[in-house]
Amino acid sequence: MSLARRILPLFIPHLGCGHNCVFCSQRSISGHTEPVTPASVAEALASLSRPVDELAFYGGSFTALPLSAQEGYLSAAAPFLQKGVIRAIRVSTRPDAVSVPALEQLRRYGAETVELGAQSMDDAVLRVSGRGHSAEDTAQAAARLRRFGFRVILQMMTGLPGSSPERDFRTGEALAALRPDGVRIYPTVILRDTPLYDLWRRGEYREHTVSDAVEICARLLPLFESKGIPVIRLGLNPTDALSAGQAAGGAYDPALGEKVRSRIYLEKARALLRRGGYGACAVLGVCKSDVSQLIGQRRCNLEALRTEFHLERLSVRPAELPRGEVALLEAKGTAREDRSDRNTRPLP
Ligand code: SF4
Repeated sequence: MSLARRILPLFIPHLGCGHNCVFCSQRSISGHTEPVTPASVAEALASLSRPVDELAFYGGSFTALPLSAQEGYLSAAAPFLQKGVIRAIRVSTRPDAVSVPALEQLRRYGAETVELGAQSMDDAVLRVSGRGHSAEDTAQAAARLRRFGFRVILQMMTGLPGSSPERDFRTGEALAALRPDGVRIYPTVILRDTPLYDLWRRGEYREHTVSDAVEICARLLPLFESKGIPVIRLGLNPTDALSAGQAAGGAYDPALGEKVRSRIYLEKARALLRRGGYGACAVLGVCKSDVSQLIGQRRCNLEALRTEFHLERLSVRPAELPRGEVALLEAKGTAREDRSDRNTRPLP
């Protein structure tokens, strides 16, 4: 099932949330300081030039709002649903806020997708991050949403306080076991005006760097995709505020997704070359759309492989291959004795 839907995102930053997660600043993440109102929802829908698949309420905990407030938003969208301007509604919320009455109301008003901020499946990490819910809450919420027939998107974070690459990977495994329809992965970014920023400044939190994020996401992405679970987002959407310094540290990089996919290709090419048979010059093939990912930013993958395998020349050409596959298209010259699988030092 394709997840490439046209979505109209509207933001209710922090609404409905009685918590204070250490990393949270919904206003800077969303780029919106004020939540939409039912009137502005209707206005936004009326101004659409063509229909969209879904109207999405992001940035808060929709189902944690009073039922009447939720109904205010949903009823503002209802006439547009009837006219076919939108086909469905999507909301994001917390795992401990999916009450039966809220889900019944969402279904009545045409909601199809619920995004749950799971963030971690490690209770110790959830506790020190101030999440206020447990891993079991997430498992139960996902099961309940499925019983009500919702599509379930799970959001996870890497590099939270108290976490580690292994804990993050186990979170990925636990979330995959819940069989979501899609996953978003958000490596932790240190935003100003958050408790995490203070922890970091006091030296009580070790920054999750872009490079840390690339390493762990390059393991998580294949984990989900090998199980048929699409990763629909990697890293925070860039906003003017984040790029202007609101993101004080951590894994903020508008090109994160590209870097992760490039890193995965590096590992695939490395595995291929370790099998040998490449000579002094080699040409690798990959599908046309991913040539630049295999080459890497500023040719970093090619340079790393060339050094590691003692190649004189290494290049990449587009080839008729399925996405994600790498093949050895040409191999010339004599392999040097010391080239090899024996040299497995990690890249810088
Ligand atoms: S649950 Fe946490 S991340 Fe979500 S809005 Fe509330 S404080 Fe922010």
